[in-house]
Amino acid sequence: MADKLTPEQRHRCMSHVRSKNTKPEIIVRKYLFSCGFRYRVNVKTLPGTPDIVLRKYRTVIFVNGCFWHGHEGCKYFVLPKSNVEYWRKKIERNRERDLEERVRLRDMGWHVIQLWECQLKPKVRRRTLEGLAYTLNKMTLLNFGAKVYGLPEAEDGLCAAEDNAEYGTSARQEIKDGACPCD
Ligand SMILES: [Zn+2]
Repeated sequence: MADKLTPEQRHRCMSHVRSKNTKPEIIVRKYLFSCGFRYRVNVKTLPGTPDIVLRKYRTVIFVNGCFWHGHEGCKYFVLPKSNVEYWRKKIERNRERDLEERVRLRDMGWHVIQLWECQLKPKVRRRTLEGLAYTLNKMTLLNFGAKVYGLPEAEDGLCAAEDNAEYGTSARQEIKDGACPCD
């Protein structure tokens, strides 16, 4: 029976097998949760219904499938051999819509992070997730610094050296505290 499958069908089946119980979105959510991040999922009130919304970080995350969202240059983005034109247009529309949604979210003051399914494959998953946690922690620091110290950039250089040193220490500490214990 398997011999009757077209390459496309086989590909789809294989993808399905591989993604069983390891839906990219769930991988990201579990990781973030284990690192202490709290979020909402599938927030319909925001453009594009982001998969993960971290309000405290003013960050939304989209976890995109490489095929449906047309991940350029990605080996998982291969147009089916039949109805090429139909698929090309369809994916192109998806990409345009993604872009519009990202622009709208940014206009609303959100940081938008886009993760691809291929970045969550077992071999590269850890690097992707650690990078994500690092980015989020860095954002907190920036926000934290702005709120608490409120120093215009020009005044930074006038601070006493000790103050700077102290600032640096607490900044590093925060990254350490926020680092994921699960690796
Ligand atoms: Zn991809």
